[in-house]
Amino acid sequence: MQIISTSGNPDIATVYLADLGDGRLIEFVESVQPPIAREDKWVLIISTLQGCPVGCSICDAGQFYRGRLSEEELWVQLDYLVKSRYPDKKIPASKFKIQFARMGEPTFNQSVLTVLRKLPERYHAPGLLPSLSTVAPAGVNSFFDQLLEVKQEYYHQGNFQLQFSLHSTNQEYRDKLIPVKKWSFSDIARYGDRFYQPGDRKITLNFVLTNTTPIDPNILLNHFDPATYLIKLTPLNPTYRSQEHELETAIDPYNESTDSSITNALKKAGYEVILSIGEPEENLIGSNCGQYIQAHLRNESGLIDGYRYPLNKY
Ligand code: SF4
Repeated sequence: MQIISTSGNPDIATVYLADLGDGRLIEFVESVQPPIAREDKWVLIISTLQGCPVGCSICDAGQFYRGRLSEEELWVQLDYLVKSRYPDKKIPASKFKIQFARMGEPTFNQSVLTVLRKLPERYHAPGLLPSLSTVAPAGVNSFFDQLLEVKQEYYHQGNFQLQFSLHSTNQEYRDKLIPVKKWSFSDIARYGDRFYQPGDRKITLNFVLTNTTPIDPNILLNHFDPATYLIKLTPLNPTYRSQEHELETAIDPYNESTDSSITNALKKAGYEVILSIGEPEENLIGSNCGQYIQAHLRNESGLIDGYRYPLNKY
């Protein structure tokens, strides 16, 4: 793998653009969460596919698909980031989060499971916390069954984070944002209820809030027990895809008090709610969810509030 360039600020996030050696380009990210020190929380976000066949209408990584990354190509991203900071592979962070979320729906790649099985031996990382976010596509039941086994064997008692990106309780709207065949809420709940064991982290139900997102707490309550599931609300990040679909964020990343009505309704229904805003600067770095710097490089018009950091060539 050859790093081509980077974008970012080491005190917030850095995006790495790399050539896998045969012209295939990927991106991966390391980030921290100020004011939390890197020694306390360190987050790596890697790609699992080249492009993504799901093609969510909020995500710039889903505009093309050229296949899965191999196990080795997953390790090469992690090893590069780990060895850059900790050559002895001893990671002191009390929370060392690895997200399989930069580019690609992770359940389409069985190598993600292999990496999950080997991670605890690969690095000395007492704070290891893998995190898998999925839109729950249909046809990958075997992946989900194995994921449950992996969690039970290596990451039980709160050392794994599972997130389902639902985005809306209205199925038509959900289909608009995630245009593939996928599990129904009943399917997700059936699996989630099996996945969750006492001592585990609650399963996250994620909603990227646009200004037209329908969310009905009663529909959620029909399927998802607040004792097992929590809700995460995130802003719609500035992407070319969301602009193309004329979607606008309902959460202002510069103002944490926005859209309290939905938050309050979900809390009233009994859910723990996380308003996940993060550093607005990440929109300018290009490290936020759904952003893909290579999409920007192909699109000279730019985006208001979107990526604008200079690329540091290697
Ligand atoms: S959000 Fe995830 S599943 Fe959707 S297109 Fe992007 S990478 Fe694929």
